[in-house]
Amino acid sequence: NESLADADPELAAVLRNELGRQRNTLEMIASENFAPRSVLEAQGSVLTNKYAEGYPGKRYYGGCEFVDVAEELALSRVKSLFGAAYANVQPHSGAQANAAAMHALIRPGDTILGLELAHGGHLTHGMKINYSGRLYNVAAYGVDPETFLIDMDVVRQKALEHKPKLIIAGWSAYPRQLDFAAFRSIADEVGAYLMVDMAHFAGLVAAGLHPNPVPHAHVTTSTTHKTLAGPRGGIILAGDEENAKKFQSAVFPGQQGGPLMHVIAGKAAAFKVAHSDAFKDRQERTLRGAKILAERLTSADAVKAGVSVLTGGTDVHLVLVDLRESQLDGQQAEDRLHEIGVTVNRNAVPFDPRPPMVTSGLRIGTPALATRGFGDEQFTEVADVIAQALQPSADIESLRKRVEKLAGDFPLYEGLETW
Ligand code: PLP
Repeated sequence: NESLADADPELAAVLRNELGRQRNTLEMIASENFAPRSVLEAQGSVLTNKYAEGYPGKRYYGGCEFVDVAEELALSRVKSLFGAAYANVQPHSGAQANAAAMHALIRPGDTILGLELAHGGHLTHGMKINYSGRLYNVAAYGVDPETFLIDMDVVRQKALEHKPKLIIAGWSAYPRQLDFAAFRSIADEVGAYLMVDMAHFAGLVAAGLHPNPVPHAHVTTSTTHKTLAGPRGGIILAGDEENAKKFQSAVFPGQQGGPLMHVIAGKAAAFKVAHSDAFKDRQERTLRGAKILAERLTSADAVKAGVSVLTGGTDVHLVLVDLRESQLDGQQAEDRLHEIGVTVNRNAVPFDPRPPMVTSGLRIGTPALATRGFGDEQFTEVADVIAQALQPSADIESLRKRVEKLAGDFPLYEGLETW
């Protein structure tokens, strides 16, 4: 019964190094967060040992009396968080949740209509070599070339033209809120199901700071590890029980075998946190931080250096930096921020003139820093640091010191290392 440090020093070093990286740099990848200790403990627990195919009270394995309680806790907490009548907390990831939701509602060969990948959609919304693009006939709507916003008249035209069986609303890179009621009315008009993938903004919804798609959609899917700050995983929700049986059997045995009970326990722990006032406060700071970032990256100095943000601002937890006019491309900007200790990802802008491995954009998110405790003052400082880093003649050394100071002022996971 050796500890990790004793049994596998090589691997223990990886964990220590990664913890050091998370502590000493500023994490601004929009899809990442810091799971609370309660989630880490649940995930790193003996629940990992348990097979529990089936659902609480109806398992194909004995000895499920305690893991049943964990799954019931996750279910009741997530339903009340989002006002859902139905929930499934077993999908291993956001991609699995989407696969199961589609498996439940449509058949191979049916048409799906989602946001174009190059305009901020997700792989599972119809990318050619993803399961979604291979199993289903894919149609897509894009953003407007002038405003970079989704135009509901265009969505409606595409829906009338392609007659999809499923319309997908949701994104991986889009800085504004979607009109779920309008999506539903288009779905009803063409006889399609509406699936909302709220993977990115679920934490904002849970805090009441973003419209809730659950009452509008036939099915709502999400990850649990982005703004929600839980373990890596997926969920499926619905406002009614109409398709409940189909979702249950699409997840198991349709797409998956045994559920990850340690992760489901982690989800339960995260959903408890998401009911708290502290969580709401954190999501408010996340939103204010993103707005501060958008302001600083559209200042006169930023614009002079060819930097701005798509749609001129943000309503969510991220900004999309537009570098089409900048000397720095997305790759160079990502590398430069990495050099000063800020982690972001480059991201193609819609209609990007540069190649996909280079890109003309950055996606920068505030959830992880808000979890770390950042408020307006620190977000202003980090926004200024980023704006200066994107200037042609940035003073890398002094910017790195400012990042180190911010990281040092907000300790992360104190006393966590047992390896
Ligand atoms: N849906 C959206 C909108 C996403 O942004 C992502 C993750 O990037 C996913 C689904 C997939 O989640 P996962 O990486 O857990 O499969």
